[in-house]
Amino acid sequence: MIPASLISALRSARHVVVFTGAGVSAESGIPTFRDALTGLWERFDPGELATPEAFRRDPALVWGWYEWRRMRVLQSQPNPAHLAIADLARHVPQLTLITQNVDDLHERAGSEDVIHLHGSLHRPRCFACAREPAEPLPAADEPEHGRRLEPPRCSHCGGRLRRCGGSVRHQTQRLLSRKFWRARNCRGQT
Ligand SMILES: [Zn+2]
Repeated sequence: MIPASLISALRSARHVVVFTGAGVSAESGIPTFRDALTGLWERFDPGELATPEAFRRDPALVWGWYEWRRMRVLQSQPNPAHLAIADLARHVPQLTLITQNVDDLHERAGSEDVIHLHGSLHRPRCFACAREPAEPLPAADEPEHGRRLEPPRCSHCGGRLRRCGGSVRHQTQRLLSRKFWRARNCRGQT
């Protein structure tokens, strides 16, 4: 049941900002960072594995973990919450969707121009020069319990590719500027 006050606020809104986190994807079967890891990563803390330090220490372990997670995401489907947010965008003058999630379920539900606060599993960048690869990643086909996997190399500088799974601090300046511009233009409406 949607509260009448929310319906009324949405009717008069000029710009709606939707902010989502792990809960929206948990319904699709995507484990959250609070869930214990299994298989090869059983001994590891997911918050630790996502840091640049962990990648520097053991890139094959971290890349294997990300590919395993990407495979899980590709096997999952958007749920009614993802679909409702995509639908809401068609009923308000402007909607900005900001997510903490690294999956692409919002995009597959039909949302456009999603801002991924912590990067995306599906859009890695070079750890050295921050460029995105020219070619999309091939379909992930990982064993059930995961494996170590050497990251692909950047075609520009030869650096290793890494998911932008860390904090905002490690994202590119261009992306940050876009986020700040969007936030400023929201004028406090939610
Ligand atoms: Zn590079």
